[in-house]
Amino acid sequence: MQGKILIVDAIATNRIVLKVKLASAFYQVVQASSVAEAVDLARQHGPELIISALSLPDGGAAELCGVLRKSSLTEHIPIMAIGCRANTDTRMTTLEAGVHDVILKPVDDTLLLGRVRSLIRAHNAAAEWQMREDTSRALGLAEPSTEFEPMGHCVFVSSDQASTLGWVAQLRPLMGSRLICATAKDAMQTIEKEAIPDIFVLVLPQDHQEGTTALNLISTLRANASTRHAGVLVMQTTPNPALATNALDLGADDLMTDGFEPAELALRLKALSRRKRMGEQMRATVRTGLKAAVVDPLTGLHNRRYAMPHLTRIAEHARSTGRPFAVMVADLDHFKRINDLYGHASGDSVLAEVAHRLRGSMRAVDMVARIGGEEFMIVMPGTTLADARLAAIRICNNISQCPFDIPGSNEPIAVTISIGMAIGGVLTGDDQPLLDNGETLLDHADKALYSAKMRGRNQVTLSRPAA
Ligand code: GH3
Ligand code: MG
Ligand code: MG
Repeated sequence: MQGKILIVDAIATNRIVLKVKLASAFYQVVQASSVAEAVDLARQHGPELIISALSLPDGGAAELCGVLRKSSLTEHIPIMAIGCRANTDTRMTTLEAGVHDVILKPVDDTLLLGRVRSLIRAHNAAAEWQMREDTSRALGLAEPSTEFEPMGHCVFVSSDQASTLGWVAQLRPLMGSRLICATAKDAMQTIEKEAIPDIFVLVLPQDHQEGTTALNLISTLRANASTRHAGVLVMQTTPNPALATNALDLGADDLMTDGFEPAELALRLKALSRRKRMGEQMRATVRTGLKAAVVDPLTGLHNRRYAMPHLTRIAEHARSTGRPFAVMVADLDHFKRINDLYGHASGDSVLAEVAHRLRGSMRAVDMVARIGGEEFMIVMPGTTLADARLAAIRICNNISQCPFDIPGSNEPIAVTISIGMAIGGVLTGDDQPLLDNGETLLDHADKALYSAKMRGRNQVTLSRPAA
């Protein structure tokens, strides 16, 4: 089965005709004859799309949309309404209510199925991101909401610049955003130089062949990483169901088949922009979640989960290049005392400042990670013993020579750090094998750290594996 669709119409024959069309495309159909019944069935079945008559005995598609948007269970289900040509006013209020699309009879079957596919595809994509966002949100990793951000800019792509300029002039008073006209070629060139538009309005030429060529832009936009998520609204000056269906299947988000109508276009652009913003917000939350999985929130350094596989990769790389690399484990001295004397918050501020100084002491290619409470791992690829030792001494000095300002004390406090170090990717002795295993090296560095602590702290010790 393709998916579940709820049909809402008071007239049984209308429902049956529509059901036959949808069933022939393998959709599973549920039927309701009023707003109240539709709300019940939507809650029970969670359809991927609702197709409703514009008016119903107890309201209409707009009222249905209003009720469904109030419940988290049904708020994201896309709704498409079907009405008669006479209902122009209802059509506008229905779109305003949040119904995705209102199409007028007679309905072209191919185009109807094209619209159904497009709405369900968008709904499923949004639902998948929604699930990932929910997880990130549950973990407390959601991005702050940017609900009131104004719409970005919108590019009208057309081969008939003169008419399009006229339309844009009419549309401007209705939209708060920047509107630009361009040919397809100019539009793609602008993208390389300027900010990415929120929405592309593609105005199709009347000629079928030219129209088909113009649709290539949708494929290009969808294949380009920077425009993949931009909104695309296709506008036809005269209806051409075959082209319109193609446009939707290629990935257009919305369609106007009957030419320019400023109020309706403004409404659709605003709705499309809102949906795109919500999508962007969800993706941002997922990105934040991924980052949060490998970054320590207190210091902003990488955590152990990132550090260990990174160390393994550096070790493998060293094996193939034959260049040495350094692994250090750095541990704050008597850190427990800082917590005990000045409080945990002061301890935290020391950790954050130490992380800052560590990062500032190293090259961009070096990895600095927090692998324990007050323990850090530093990996320096392509580094000799002499250079690594200098870097480690630099770190010790950067910590010890400049006392730390902390919230729990009026006077800056002295902090020191001990470092154990091991060198990988080099022969360890005449008959020794190449020391190149990340974990073994970390173990050696740990042992060297222990020696540094034993010898009085605030110093660097190099691991010398037993010959
Ligand atoms: P040594 O010189 O031998 O390393 O002594 P130490 O006191 O630094 O080492 P110990 O392992 O005895 O104590 C580490 C302390 O670090 C204990 C723990 O409460 C503290 N700690 C661990 N994680 C955090 C943290 O995130 N914030 C704060 N403020 N303290 C932490
Ligand atoms: Mg310590
Ligand atoms: Mg420790």
